[in-house]
Amino acid sequence: MTRGAVHYQELLEALRQSFPQPVSDPVHDGYVVFSILRALDQVDALKSQTPILGMPIEPDYAQARSEVVGDEHQKLEAVIPELVSYLQGMFIWGHPRSQLNVVPNPSLASVIGVLLPLLYNPNLCSDESARRFAEAEVRATAMAADLVGYDPRRAGGVFTFGGTGTLLYGVKVGLEKAIPGAGREGVREDALIVASGQSHYACSSVASWLGIGQQNVVLVPTHQNNSVQLPLLEETLRSAMAEGRKIAAIVATMGTTDAFGIDNLQAIDQMRRRLAEEFKLSTLPHLHADAVIGWAWSVFNDYDFEANPLEFRGRTVRALAAAQHDIGHLRLADSLGIDFHKTGYAPYNSSLVLFRDANDFALIARSRETMPYLYQSGEHHPGMYTLETSRSGVGAMAALANMLQFGKEGFRTLLGHAVEMAEVLRERIESHPNLTVLNGDNVGPVTLFRAYPDGVDTFSVKDRERTDASYHEQVLAHNAYNRQIFERVHAEALTGHGVAISLTNCYRHTDAGDPIVALKSYVLSPFSDERRMESIVKHVLAARDIVDAQRV
Ligand SMILES: *Cc1c(COP(=O)(O)O)cnc(C)c1O
Repeated sequence: MTRGAVHYQELLEALRQSFPQPVSDPVHDGYVVFSILRALDQVDALKSQTPILGMPIEPDYAQARSEVVGDEHQKLEAVIPELVSYLQGMFIWGHPRSQLNVVPNPSLASVIGVLLPLLYNPNLCSDESARRFAEAEVRATAMAADLVGYDPRRAGGVFTFGGTGTLLYGVKVGLEKAIPGAGREGVREDALIVASGQSHYACSSVASWLGIGQQNVVLVPTHQNNSVQLPLLEETLRSAMAEGRKIAAIVATMGTTDAFGIDNLQAIDQMRRRLAEEFKLSTLPHLHADAVIGWAWSVFNDYDFEANPLEFRGRTVRALAAAQHDIGHLRLADSLGIDFHKTGYAPYNSSLVLFRDANDFALIARSRETMPYLYQSGEHHPGMYTLETSRSGVGAMAALANMLQFGKEGFRTLLGHAVEMAEVLRERIESHPNLTVLNGDNVGPVTLFRAYPDGVDTFSVKDRERTDASYHEQVLAHNAYNRQIFERVHAEALTGHGVAISLTNCYRHTDAGDPIVALKSYVLSPFSDERRMESIVKHVLAARDIVDAQRV
């Protein structure tokens, strides 16, 4: 059913009210603010004491797929509740009982930082279209470069679509160094990406998307602490070089996704220099640090751990100092990735790829003739070398907002607290005979742990599971056991009464190649507290009791 004839001008007049007004109109501004307030009010009605908004509702994809665009326009007031309804069942990442993954709750500053470019819509491809937002990106880039120890006058960077995007840029540049002309002529010979077995699968995505090929990603085994085994890395690089194979990039993972393992970047840098000399390579293999998680620990580079002015407890100081010890070498990488949307308390997507030398961008720049409609004016044109043409200002503004507001001390406080809470959890887990921490050698805000049935010696079981091939059946049984416990805990979390933790299907493999399943607590929320950390153990043990009862 459609309404009768109406002159479009009448509709246009109504639709004009649906946009922010181009010239000052305080009455309409009131309407804008009130509309946002209306939405937030409806969200507020979904809040309770639980770590989710409203009630969990299973997504109805069949219904969603059957939807079509309506005939007539609606009032904004009618659309808002529809939009808000999608928050039903959403996890509240900042809730003290929400510890699912490396997902932060965005700060207010970062949300306002995002709101402004959303309203005025700069395109960072050029300062023609971004105006001072281009400067904001340069500023955020320089601040981050300084933080990780790059020379901000020499370094360069762009915000891109995710940690995967940062890796894509790093490897793309490395590929062009290894095979000059690859961008123009295609990748016509093999090049390797060398990373650790605990590196992110983004290495494989990037290899596939760049035409390097997933088969050319070489994953080097890691130590128990999830850092790459240096002698094996050297062996890999050495044999590749001896065969004359090209290396697109060595990827050092500075904070693995599940366990917070950190590679020894300094040793890797020395190794590549030594080998390049030995094999008389004309270019140094590109070293990219996948620091999307670990970068934030750079704020501790000039923290006085001895005096410990923020008064973290001993365990926490040791953990922070140990992480900083490795993260402090980030400046040795040719490029590195930073996710402000992980450990930087910014909303998605806020990822920055940094190059120690901004001139590296020249290796992947397009020629001006290919882009006739752009760059008629202005002087700063990242779009000449970015993958993206349209590039939102939200990532840069969110990052800038948080760096401005928190400063190093603010970040130290937030991260220090997260690590302190993880340490509290570890203490509780270690003091319980049926639970054990798996990534005890890692020093971040994430704890991987496992529960075992009565009668299992949790002191020795970890090593046995890892190394004893005859223990294969038990490993699988314990995997299933922990999965069952997780399902209980998760179901309880969805009702809003439990703790929202997660599960990883494969924290690492046993020597025999079996995956080791682990329960996972990732603390980032500034609202987390000791009491809630203790309740994790309580909920897991209660779930374990139920699983045990069902087994007999
Ligand atoms: C999350 C993650 C990525 C991928 O980053 P996105 O922002 O999710 O694209 C890459 N590497 C590591 C180590 C990660 O943890």
